[in-house]
Amino acid sequence: MYDGDIASVLITEQQIKDKVAELAKQVDEDYRQGGDLLLVGVLKGAVMFMTDFARALPQPAQLEFMAVSSYGSSTSSSGVVRILKDLDRDIAGKHVVIVEDIIDSGLTLSWLLKNLNARNPASLEVCTLLRKPDAVQVDVPVRYVGFDIPNEFVVGYGLDYAERYRDLPYIGTLDPKVYTSGV
Ligand code: 5GP
Ligand code: MG
Ligand code: MG
Repeated sequence: MYDGDIASVLITEQQIKDKVAELAKQVDEDYRQGGDLLLVGVLKGAVMFMTDFARALPQPAQLEFMAVSSYGSSTSSSGVVRILKDLDRDIAGKHVVIVEDIIDSGLTLSWLLKNLNARNPASLEVCTLLRKPDAVQVDVPVRYVGFDIPNEFVVGYGLDYAERYRDLPYIGTLDPKVYTSGV
């Protein structure tokens, strides 16, 4: 699949699986007393993580999805966010966990946290599979982090380049030829 496009595998399918199980166990322990756990997946990047995470989670959770687009180039975000698809339901009084694929500048997430907080959830936390170095500088509270990765553009397991590679079961870096050949 995608022969020759992937320069290196950064995180294998098995490593993802183990980490998802570990995060799910952590969240389960933290939310044991709470009740009404609601996962908000951010489309489309978090889809694979969201569905695996929900299945690994020992306790019931409701699933909601939101789609946002941040203005900017395809590889970096500006912090100006537009809602493409809003939640279907009210989150007031619910214990909400935002499920994200990756935090880079943290601008998208920072906006999302403000937006969802205004809807009065009982609690609001973030669970991201990946985090890049820049994110550490932004004052965004992220309770659950799968992997801290280097500042490289990655694809796979939900993450795309020009809508491709989301269906890879692992996370890898792209061969530079992909950016330059204009596919
Ligand atoms: P932030 O607002 O944190 O800078 O941007 C987060 C969004 O940028 C992610 O949800 C994702 O869509 C995109 N993004 C940031 N880094 C990467 C990356 O390495 N690979 C891919 N495919 N998308 C990324
Ligand atoms: Mg995302
Ligand atoms: Mg993308």
